[in-house]
Amino acid sequence: MIIVMKTGSNQDLVKTVVARIEELGLRAHLSSGEERTIIGVVGLPLPPSLDDMFAAFTGVEQVVRVTKKFKLASWDFHPQKTVIQLGNVAIGGDEVTIIAGPCSVESRDQTLESARAVAAAGATILRGGAYKPRTSPYEFRGLGERGLEILATAREETGLRIITEVMTPSDVDLVGQYTDIFQIGARNSQNYLLLEEVGKAGKPVMLKRGLSMLVEEWLLAAEYVMAQGNPDVILCERGIRTFENATRNTLDVSAVPVVQGFSHLPVFVDPSHAAGKRAFVPALSLAGIAAGADGLMLEVHPTPDHALSDGAQSLDFAEFDALMPRLAAVAQAVGRSLPVPALN
Ligand code: PEP
Ligand code: MN
Repeated sequence: MIIVMKTGSNQDLVKTVVARIEELGLRAHLSSGEERTIIGVVGLPLPPSLDDMFAAFTGVEQVVRVTKKFKLASWDFHPQKTVIQLGNVAIGGDEVTIIAGPCSVESRDQTLESARAVAAAGATILRGGAYKPRTSPYEFRGLGERGLEILATAREETGLRIITEVMTPSDVDLVGQYTDIFQIGARNSQNYLLLEEVGKAGKPVMLKRGLSMLVEEWLLAAEYVMAQGNPDVILCERGIRTFENATRNTLDVSAVPVVQGFSHLPVFVDPSHAAGKRAFVPALSLAGIAAGADGLMLEVHPTPDHALSDGAQSLDFAEFDALMPRLAAVAQAVGRSLPVPALN
């Protein structure tokens, strides 16, 4: 349910409504626009009598029931597009955000070299996994906390923000001591206890789409994070599993406008995990931006053929450099822009 306050209602009136919501054991989520405040009410069950009760409060203009299953993620609860400000990086704003870096943090040199190269080309966020979900238990599974330390060093050296995956609720605290953004991987996108834990951690969360996840299930997963009081969720389409095996996954480009039709949350595309092969990464990247994605997440490695994970889909520095101006051209064609590369 949403409670729409009258234009210019003062904070005391809003507080009175929120206090009543909380007295009833429900949760209030405020969305303050330029002119009016919308109070989202979530919690179960919401008895029918609530509508009339809240409609009678001073300052309340309207009480509306939201019939969609996802609430906080929907436009009804938050009529402005979500923009997540991380230092000088605005995710979901006019600029298309480029996240780039290796699949895994393998060593200090490999990560710092990657960080410098992607920053120089115009990326503003460095990716790198320290805890890797691998299909086989015998593959490289990440450097753990040492990997987080290396990422933090790269942030200090380059000024890039960092994103890294957290795989289990018990690691949220530790990973949160280092990262700027939590990544929830495709395999964990319906791990509800993990989603709730990052929802409490007070930092933005990028939620990859699960391998066979419906858009509605994906938005409901975002809802788990948001229901814990964390509004800063980024959705990332990374390809879904279909019958086609010429690519690792099938990039569902249509998910970008579909999700943007339902939700105010920023939507990213990860062309690397969709393609599985670096030759296809440029085309899928361009397609993602053309479809309206708020950003891309790309795997870039100094020597992809020697990568400990996902080398086949990783671009080398020259390929990434060559791609960036092409991305900028498509961004411009759809009324967006790319950040100007840092001077080096
Ligand atoms: C990754 O980003 O390296 C990764 C494991 O991605 P996904 O969860 O989308 O497979
Ligand atoms: Mn990877």
